Amino acid sequence: MTHTTPGFVCAHHHLYSSLARGMPAPPLPTTDFISILENVWWRLDAALDLDMIYWSAALGASEALASGTTCIIDHHESPNAIEGSLATIAKACRDVGVRVNTCYGVTDRWSDTGQLSPSVSPSTKMSSAARRGLDECHSFIKSGGDAMIGVHAAFTCGDETLHAAADLAKSLTVGVHIHVAEGIDDISAGERLEGLAQDNWLLVHGVHLDRQLLGRLVHNPRSNMNNAVGYARPAHKPNTILLGTDGIGANMMEEARLAYARLREDDVSQTPETVAQWLTNGYELFPNAKQDTVVWSYEHMENPWHTAFTTHMQPISVDVDGERVYEDGNFLKIDIQEIRRKANEQALRLFERLEA
Ligand SMILES: [Zn+2]
Repeated sequence: MTHTTPGFVCAHHHLYSSLARGMPAPPLPTTDFISILENVWWRLDAALDLDMIYWSAALGASEALASGTTCIIDHHESPNAIEGSLATIAKACRDVGVRVNTCYGVTDRWSDTGQLSPSVSPSTKMSSAARRGLDECHSFIKSGGDAMIGVHAAFTCGDETLHAAADLAKSLTVGVHIHVAEGIDDISAGERLEGLAQDNWLLVHGVHLDRQLLGRLVHNPRSNMNNAVGYARPAHKPNTILLGTDGIGANMMEEARLAYARLREDDVSQTPETVAQWLTNGYELFPNAKQDTVVWSYEHMENPWHTAFTTHMQPISVDVDGERVYEDGNFLKIDIQEIRRKANEQALRLFERLEA
């Protein structure tokens, strides 16, 4: 028995969403996946500026650390603050002491006049916002930043943008981090990405994916339930499966317990070892997480049959790369009260913009 684990990896996060909790109710009722995107997330990301992005990321990173998560694979969008956004997220994570691999998620859903495009099709020409998003990924990686090439999703991009993202990723020898068939509205993603996807791509969700694509697949059980998009049945997919939170915190032990409950609902013969493997697969993308040490309040951390049913375990200390960054509820590199205060100020600014 052991109290100790390596740091956990959250394989799909949106650090920009940390300020969203408590946001004003959407102007229109949300009745399906697309209306959730249009009324909540696409309004929110359009309102972000670099100050909001920094404090949102710092808050999200500190909450990750307090959950024993030392590595975050982030997917970012802020169409009115593209340039500098990835360096801002990286700085916030560095300040807190969390490792991050980020990306700017390009899309053609914003027209060149800054309006939501009523429809995007495979023949839609690349928007200037998508071009700037690719440039942001390119320049951040060229300056030494840890990132992938981000794409929002096939259904909000023309083929020109999908191909440009794939080509840029190949030239920089990184993967593409993309939402795939999360809702039924993206059902053509498999067809459009076949031939583009590579082994180093990070495919997120795959709930309605109708064929095999190369790449690793990230399962986000809480988000899928929250958006009522259906169950991805990850145990039936041929890809290597990883676990993510899709922006609802970064508590991987909790996400794993949720993943297990949902898995068992689908197939009662399944065991906690399946989900434990999904968590472990995160180290393929972030091997450095194994250099991080989390000491837990619970002594059977090596046994998935314990952790799948134990809801109260907490990190006592977290060391990242040999440096203690968290101990007994205290953050050692940052002033957590300042982060909470500033994040609250930025959240209020954000909510004002959303109501304006
Ligand atoms: Zn996502």
